[in-house]
Amino acid sequence: MKIPLLMTPGPTYIHEEVRRAMSVEITNPDLDENFFEFYKDTCDKLKQLLHTGNDVLILSGEGILGLEAACASLIGPGDRVLCIDNGIFGKGFGDFAKMYGGEVVYFKSDYRKGINTKSLSEFLEKDHHFKLATLVHCETPSGITNPVKEICPLLKQYGILSVVDSVSAIGGEPLETDEWAMDIVLGGSQKCLSAPPGLTFLSISPRAWKAMLDRKTPIIGFYCNLSHWRNWYEEKWFPYTQPISDIYALSAAVDRLLHEENYIQRHQKLAQSVRTALLEAGLELYPVDSFSNTVTTVFVPEGTTFKDIYDEMHRTHNIMIAGAFDFLKDQVFRIGHMGENCREEKLYITLKALNQTLEKVGVQLKGKLHESFVKETE
Ligand SMILES: *Cc1c(COP(=O)(O)O)cnc(C)c1O
Repeated sequence: MKIPLLMTPGPTYIHEEVRRAMSVEITNPDLDENFFEFYKDTCDKLKQLLHTGNDVLILSGEGILGLEAACASLIGPGDRVLCIDNGIFGKGFGDFAKMYGGEVVYFKSDYRKGINTKSLSEFLEKDHHFKLATLVHCETPSGITNPVKEICPLLKQYGILSVVDSVSAIGGEPLETDEWAMDIVLGGSQKCLSAPPGLTFLSISPRAWKAMLDRKTPIIGFYCNLSHWRNWYEEKWFPYTQPISDIYALSAAVDRLLHEENYIQRHQKLAQSVRTALLEAGLELYPVDSFSNTVTTVFVPEGTTFKDIYDEMHRTHNIMIAGAFDFLKDQVFRIGHMGENCREEKLYITLKALNQTLEKVGVQLKGKLHESFVKETE
């Protein structure tokens, strides 16, 4: 199999150190005390990344599991849930809330802009009897980062728990779980952390724990029931056998980030340079504000198609970029610059190939993408 340069917004390139960690011989994770310590150490490192003193758990399943587990554990029949929706993931969160009996109310907002906290605040003045609110930190399909720093404290003022999907933001966007009063923050292994796909992790505030433990109806399901994890460390008990090799890899991947002083600045700076290069060449970005540090979404230029761009990038240049789905299908292409993909040399190669690709499919560019990029990063 010919491995492409993976420039998609997840999964991302996995560094050799992380792949090596994954191949280390295993022990029995249900019996070996050392593994309980290792799991705890890995959670402690994730706490550092999330800037939180809250409990952190690692669950065996991709990001969607974290999202579903938070909904399953917090939402019972008739609970009012505010779904903050300015994108495909934001809207989809509401479907999970409904699955567990939630009465979902949507706060809908322009899909090409970040959430406007002032409008949300006006909305909440009129209606704020919600048990929790769901929101997405970075809307990966559109490339928009929402102001969770403002939204979560606002929700807290009304006693509304915040459940934040930060899967494509953790490790690439500023994140202060405790300072910003975020109740549940969930992430995945395969985005900015650049670990293999397969794990989700989440931080749980004391208020969120209390809401789970005090609920009147039982939590439906087993795999998504976070309350089973309440005393895992004291009791040295996991609800199921842990994916030990995946956790070895996750731990090594988090080490790589934590050993780097300025990973957020790296993402900010290179994302800015990518956007400048695209704009200088005359291309149009999907977002009009609140641009993501981790993914850039670009309209497919007139006169060509997503498929033509994708195929040429893949076949001729062996680089994989992404399209999007739902209503954005075939409308945009996306360049992931998250984690190990957020490197100057990889983005240079990608933009140079994209430049050649667009010229080949007949798009007139006003400048050379890779040259503008280099100038910007200097
Ligand atoms: C990647 C991602 C997830 C996980 O979803 P998959 O489609 O299974 O990869 C969840 N939320 C967001 C915002 C994501 O970017």
